[in-house]
Amino acid sequence: MRALVCVRVAGGELQPFDACAVELGLRMGAEVTVLSLCPPSAAEPLRALTRLGVARVILLSDAVYAGADTLVTARILACAAQKIGYDLILCGRTTTEGETAQVGPMLATLLGIPLLPSVMDYEDGCLTLRGNDRPCALPPSALLTVERSFPLRFPRLRSCLGEVEIWNNSVLGLPPAECGLQGSPTRVLAARESVAGARVCQKIEVGEIPALIKELRKKEKQVAGEFPPSEEKLPLVLAVGEQALSAARAVGARVELLAEQEPAAIAAAVRAKDPDAVLFPATAEGRNLAPIVAAMIGAGLCADCTGLAVKHGELILTRPARGGSITADIVCRTRPAMASVRCEVKGAEIMIGLGKGTLGMRPQFEALAQKLGASLAATRALVDAGGAPYCEQIGLTGTKAACKIYLAVGLSGAVQHTCALDGADAVIAVNPDRDARIFSCADYGTQADAEALLAAFWNV
Ligand SMILES: Cc1cc2nc3c(=O)[nH]c(=O)nc-3n(C[C@H](O)[C@H](O)[C@H](O)COP(=O)(O)OP(=O)(O)OC[C@H]3O[C@@H](n4cnc5c(N)ncnc54)[C@H](O)[C@@H]3O)c2cc1C
Repeated sequence: MRALVCVRVAGGELQPFDACAVELGLRMGAEVTVLSLCPPSAAEPLRALTRLGVARVILLSDAVYAGADTLVTARILACAAQKIGYDLILCGRTTTEGETAQVGPMLATLLGIPLLPSVMDYEDGCLTLRGNDRPCALPPSALLTVERSFPLRFPRLRSCLGEVEIWNNSVLGLPPAECGLQGSPTRVLAARESVAGARVCQKIEVGEIPALIKELRKKEKQVAGEFPPSEEKLPLVLAVGEQALSAARAVGARVELLAEQEPAAIAAAVRAKDPDAVLFPATAEGRNLAPIVAAMIGAGLCADCTGLAVKHGELILTRPARGGSITADIVCRTRPAMASVRCEVKGAEIMIGLGKGTLGMRPQFEALAQKLGASLAATRALVDAGGAPYCEQIGLTGTKAACKIYLAVGLSGAVQHTCALDGADAVIAVNPDRDARIFSCADYGTQADAEALLAAFWNV
């Protein structure tokens, strides 16, 4: 079996999910070829892979490829994949720089092979995908995006370094106008430091929290909906799924909800209706569906947008980038423009956001949630540790919190989590570490552990 593993190198290192994809290919016993579209500086980090039992390493590097967005990257990789030959293609689910998770689904679509997204486990020829407990058999040809769980092996002591083949565009022969920044359907207009989540914290005692929650829940919900209406509107915007409707209404003079759910049917409806923009919800399904449809149509796609506005007839899409530390404004140069939009969890008035510091305490917090009529939310670290389901994950790669009170317990307050708390009127933080970042993103904070918080509620 020939496995082609597509990887990206950033900051001199292989992207973490891509490293897992290489390891999975090796564990499958496949003949692994590593393929990377990167600047020439990636050659050395890629060369290290030749000591691991990888058959070939090919670096696609040419000045005309510089600035390629996800769709153009997928087109260049698809052209190379056809030249090299493959049975399976493996990609990391996403890169930590872009966090778009688009290249894998787009590449599968362009090559016309099935997509198996978010591989969590592999054993005896069977794969387990995220959100699907029942393992499925490894098909003879497919593209797998790899989530985690496969730490890259170390080289054997006596293993030797091999060579990296460098292919420039004379090998692939793509028209330069269709490569790199020039050919890319999306363009970054501006990027700025993100200040999302900053709040002024008032110190309180843990015993005061039950009374504080009682007071705060009497107030009217203050923070408005997630997408404020744009003054200027586009004539026609399609929403693929109800969760994208509020964003579509913010920027569309006329909004239509598409009933179609399969990618080919959605693409056909989009071609027939010729809208200005198509919006998908940035749910797990929407994140897989949007790049497939974008690749079918050849449209520019911006992932995980947190803001939308129309200026001079153009849709400006705002999204967090570089792990939430910056915010970028992006435009699509195609008609339609396409985007996945971050959805809010329309939870209860109170959301209890649990972090890794509460691992093993889920039953107690379920009981507290029931007592308060609250819903549970979680950090990615807790989800990754198996302490909460993915649908509860709040943050850059989860959903946005929308509630009157967000009670953050046992979570450190990483920017990737707090960037999704704008929709909470008040944030109350409970953490024993007085230096925890969450205190700079909370309105009220107490230096206490989760057990003390639970005791405060059961003692009233
Ligand atoms: C590209 C990218 C995307 C990401 N997307 C997301 C995302 O969408 N959502 C998200 O949440 N994260 C996301 N992350 C991960 C994020 O960077 C953090 O790693 C994560 O949010 C940390 O979760 P945590 O606060 O639960 O865990 P930790 O950072 O480990 O914090 C645990 C906290 O628990 C406290 N604690 C320990 N014991 C107790 C106790 N008994 N009682 C109370 N407190 C206790 C500790 O003081 C500590 O502050 C992403 C990361 C990357 C790189």
